[in-house]
Amino acid sequence: MRKLQMVDLKSQYEKIKEDVNASIQEVLDTTTYVNGPLVHQFQADLEKYLGAKHVIPCANGTDALQIAMMGLGLKPGDEVITADFTFAATVEVIALLQLTPVLVDVDLDTMNISIEAIKNAITPKTKAIVPVHLFGRAANMDAIMEIAKEHNLFVIEDNAQAIGANYTWNDGAKQKVGTIGNVGATSFFPSKNLGCYGDGGAIFTNDDELAHTLRGIVNHGMYVRYHHDVVGVNSRLDSIQAGVLKAKLPHLDEYNQARRTAAKKYNDILSQNENIVVPQFDWNGDDHVFHQYVIRITNGKRDDLLAHLQEKGIPCAIYYPIPLHEQKAYVDSRYNEADFNVTNQLCKEVIALPMHTELDDEQIQFITDAVLEFV
Ligand SMILES: *Cc1c(COP(=O)(O)O)cnc(C)c1O
Repeated sequence: MRKLQMVDLKSQYEKIKEDVNASIQEVLDTTTYVNGPLVHQFQADLEKYLGAKHVIPCANGTDALQIAMMGLGLKPGDEVITADFTFAATVEVIALLQLTPVLVDVDLDTMNISIEAIKNAITPKTKAIVPVHLFGRAANMDAIMEIAKEHNLFVIEDNAQAIGANYTWNDGAKQKVGTIGNVGATSFFPSKNLGCYGDGGAIFTNDDELAHTLRGIVNHGMYVRYHHDVVGVNSRLDSIQAGVLKAKLPHLDEYNQARRTAAKKYNDILSQNENIVVPQFDWNGDDHVFHQYVIRITNGKRDDLLAHLQEKGIPCAIYYPIPLHEQKAYVDSRYNEADFNVTNQLCKEVIALPMHTELDDEQIQFITDAVLEFV
């Protein structure tokens, strides 16, 4: 059996080595390290793939979120609603811009932001909602866009974990996640579904004016060289990373399908156990692209299982062990513990098993045997 890893980037690279190496060589040969032709080619390829009018590449996913919020002109004191159960980057940039983060609970079955909780958190100061398509599953965009319209709020999609997922609207139409709100942000961190070999990120929007603003912000607020019209940042996707991404993008659908196939195999085996809750997903749809495969252990033995799997050499992880509202940097006296029941429960029950594009049946059998013999 091949070595078990949380993410197997080496085996994936072996299969696309020629294309990736040729892309990198092209950058080296042309010495266009920053803002070279490959950045523009990748940008155009991604716009086409997503059906998004504008893709603005940048340095990483955290910057993408920050720049998106800067571009929308959010001001200190504006309230921004986001999920309590997510990676800290989302709330970090809200706080960094001196906006007021308003963390809300998530739903137990989808682990995505709760629509009821959003409704309850809206005040006259609310300016934006940041849904996170957590673990690769699209959030309920029908409901979120309706609330946003009703209350005149911006929607900023944190799409760091769900690139390539299709959201299916209530009327059956499909749209790529990240292109639905006013703006979407993604990360090309190596372990993400579309990962480069370093840091990278991008912002998506269908709004021409906003796209123009964002292109200036990523480049020191310059629209004309050495004319700084707004306060910007330096956030670039470098050409070598763009080359890697350009070579990998044509494989994204097949990669996401491989993840879904692995998730289905895990589900088929693990759902037999009454102490395990597996992620439900529509095999015929594609609104879940399994950035992570996360199950819940409901008999209180999650931590023991973690130790058991680690002892057997099976990598696994807890995403996320502490709710954001309990993190020192983000505690807020306005929060009421009773409003975070689901996040508090998830932090005690979730465990992520290895999930990547190269998982084979033998590995899945070995991992699930080890889980079932213990739980
Ligand atoms: C990875 C991630 C980010 C940040 O992306 P970086 O490229 O690491 O800065 C933001 N939000 C979520 C939900 C993520 O998973």
